[in-house]
Amino acid sequence: MDKITVTRSVMPDRAVFDTYVDQIFKTGWLTNNGALVQELERRLSAYLGVKNIVLVTNGTLALQIAAKLLGLQGEIITTPFTFVATASAMVWDHLRVRFADIEKESLNLDAAAVEQIITPRTCAILPVHVFGNPCRVEQFEAIAGKYDLKLIYDASHAFNVGYKGQSLLNHGDISTLSFHATKLFHTIEGGALVIKDDDLCAHARKMINFGITGPETIECLGINAKMNEFQAAMGLSLLDKMDEAIARRKLLCLQYDEYFKNRIIRQAYPEECTRNYAYYPVIFPDESTLKRAQAKLEAAGIFPRRYFYPSLCDLDFLVNVCETITSKNISRRIMCLPLFPDLTHEQCHAISHMVLSVLEDKQ
Ligand SMILES: *Cc1c(COP(=O)(O)O)cnc(C)c1O
Repeated sequence: MDKITVTRSVMPDRAVFDTYVDQIFKTGWLTNNGALVQELERRLSAYLGVKNIVLVTNGTLALQIAAKLLGLQGEIITTPFTFVATASAMVWDHLRVRFADIEKESLNLDAAAVEQIITPRTCAILPVHVFGNPCRVEQFEAIAGKYDLKLIYDASHAFNVGYKGQSLLNHGDISTLSFHATKLFHTIEGGALVIKDDDLCAHARKMINFGITGPETIECLGINAKMNEFQAAMGLSLLDKMDEAIARRKLLCLQYDEYFKNRIIRQAYPEECTRNYAYYPVIFPDESTLKRAQAKLEAAGIFPRRYFYPSLCDLDFLVNVCETITSKNISRRIMCLPLFPDLTHEQCHAISHMVLSVLEDKQ
């Protein structure tokens, strides 16, 4: 068998990609809010069902810009069960990160645990829709309202996830996306902000280009976070393939589900959500079983990934003040199995059976 990795970047049809690249060569316009970036913004806003979307260089900058746009200072509460950038982007910008624990069924930030650690210095909550599973948005909205806090969702995994009949991205003051090559939809490197307020969105557009608004005007503090035309060309040529890619992932997830039903724990999803099937995480009974499954798969040239391990509360450069027991516990036991549109049903079968054989072998 060829080497199978946890994911494989979707590639566009070469001819389609080339037509966009031809446009770039014809105009010589490479970056600074070019025609392709504008077109991708329009198409994403329609595809995702969101009003304001601003494309940026990557998902980490999207988080940093969100924090700046909302004028955050002081403490921000987030989950330790996420990719490191969720927290490190905040620490980088001198916010104090405080971790609250996660729910053991959904693996998302626990709203009740958040409420317990709110202090007068708390300025915002930053939940993550982990693996594309919608957070308890109603609860977070209620808490944010009650304590007058800003609400940012790291929606890096939640491209095209629907909740109660609309885009999940419409929740919070801002939702951020990552379009990194390993994500469901990508622009090689890239990201976006979905911004509820129109004025804030206008401000974001200035902020991503150094605050420059004219040849001789620099209106506000900014940074360089512009998406370039080649990134947009990649996104535009992939967007048409997304429905098909998600449908294919769904079939593979249903196949995994069939094998693992009643035999291995998986994340619980709320009702009334339409999933994007971005990841396939499984939770082992303990770390040693996980390691045995990992070793068995790797010996066969199959490379799952331990997302997310370690739990961020164990990183000493990200200050922690509360015990996040569930996050630590889950982090040690969870692993994402290979999932991408080109994975075959035979490969899915082989992977599942290797995992099940390890579970059944009582060592
Ligand atoms: C990928 C990811 C990011 C960072 O996005 P980049 O585009 O790689 O900068 C942030 N948060 C989460 C949850 C992610 O998975």
